[in-house]
Amino acid sequence: MALSGVEIFKLLPKTNCKKCGHPTCLAFAMKLAQRQASLDACPDVSEEAKMKLGEASAPPFRPITLGAGSKAVKMGEETVLFRHEKKFVNPCAIAVEVKDTDSEESIKAVVAAVLDSEIDRVGQKLRIDAILIKDASGDPAKLVQAVALVAAQGPEIPLIISTTNAAAADAAIEKIPGKRPILYGANESNAESMAQTAKKHKAILGVSAPNLDALSTLTEKIKALGVEDMVIDPGSRTAGDMLRDNTFIRRAAIKKSVKSVGYPVISFAQRDDHMLEALVASLCISKYSSIVVISSVEKWKSLALFTLRQNIYTDPQVPMQVEQKIYDIGETNADAPLMITTNFSLTFFIVSGEVENSKVPVRLAVMDSEGLSVLTAWAAGKFTASKIAQFIQESGVENKISKKELIIPGYVAILSGAIEEKLPGWKVIVGPREANALPAFLKTKN
Ligand code: SF4
Repeated sequence: MALSGVEIFKLLPKTNCKKCGHPTCLAFAMKLAQRQASLDACPDVSEEAKMKLGEASAPPFRPITLGAGSKAVKMGEETVLFRHEKKFVNPCAIAVEVKDTDSEESIKAVVAAVLDSEIDRVGQKLRIDAILIKDASGDPAKLVQAVALVAAQGPEIPLIISTTNAAAADAAIEKIPGKRPILYGANESNAESMAQTAKKHKAILGVSAPNLDALSTLTEKIKALGVEDMVIDPGSRTAGDMLRDNTFIRRAAIKKSVKSVGYPVISFAQRDDHMLEALVASLCISKYSSIVVISSVEKWKSLALFTLRQNIYTDPQVPMQVEQKIYDIGETNADAPLMITTNFSLTFFIVSGEVENSKVPVRLAVMDSEGLSVLTAWAAGKFTASKIAQFIQESGVENKISKKELIIPGYVAILSGAIEEKLPGWKVIVGPREANALPAFLKTKN
């Protein structure tokens, strides 16, 4: 049962020592009640209070880390139903399936595609996060071979081993010590043996059941067997059923504090029709899956899913922005053109990317617009002639350039005269409206 902030406060040391990063114990208690802080942050909390608060202050979805090292994937920890309430915490991982019946070349090609899937978008690294190795042969030796092959080709890639055979799982996980995989395949009939194998290897147990009631009963049973880290599969496979079950799980864990479903959800989106697969995976990313399994790595699909995922897991209350400063792109000298734009991350990365493509060294003045794009910032009065002039003057860039020329985005061409008035001796040049026209434009300036 969730405790109120005041109830939690009564159990804290009440010394207001601030070691938890909050000004008072009451402020910390309020954050704990909203599940926006962890009890671990208070070093002085008593054991008795820990016992009482532990359950109440734990996030509704158990935090679990799949894999180890720099590509480990964090899951769970979600505290809200809708991202406008508070940001979603851990982005849905995307895993691609290989089968132990696939040829060695085919498995190697998938691992290579996963390793090659990483892109940099708005300063974040996005990639296919994991590989699921399915026991399609029913032959433990084949499963072990496939797991060893994937691990050898991509040692850092987190793995999901999919089998209902605990002995085969045991042998396969022996091949990847310390990798903390998911062992997916525990069900009503093999729960004991799978739990034992997961415990032995400190693996995360993937638990499936044909419906939510059965799933809830099964996770309680497995927890009683000593396995704490689970991912759950309510058995739904059609898009409609996934949406329904994932929503029930999220609601039950958050609104009703049902601990038996408070685990990251794994969803299976594989379809023969890859366009349909992308749509189903999009649904899973949008609605509460922590891992979605797809059948293949294709650039078009990855880009669509990465972009959607990044948008859903961006904090809607905090615009993505970069630091206000003059960025040197390429080997600039005194003759390098000076351009200006706003500090919305997407704007910055698109503009700087196109400047890099042009191979023309440029000084890019990025002005603080509170994370708004050019037109929005202009409309909101944050990218005005006065503010631009003040920024340019205070930046000191004037001393580094041979010609006092400033290139402004085409969308705010209307500002050119006013900027020249505010910056005596400067010439304002109107650049293109769209960033993709920058390479051609900059070559004319070279
Ligand atoms: Fe209170 Fe503990 Fe925070 Fe200190 S660290 S202010 S005792 S909650």
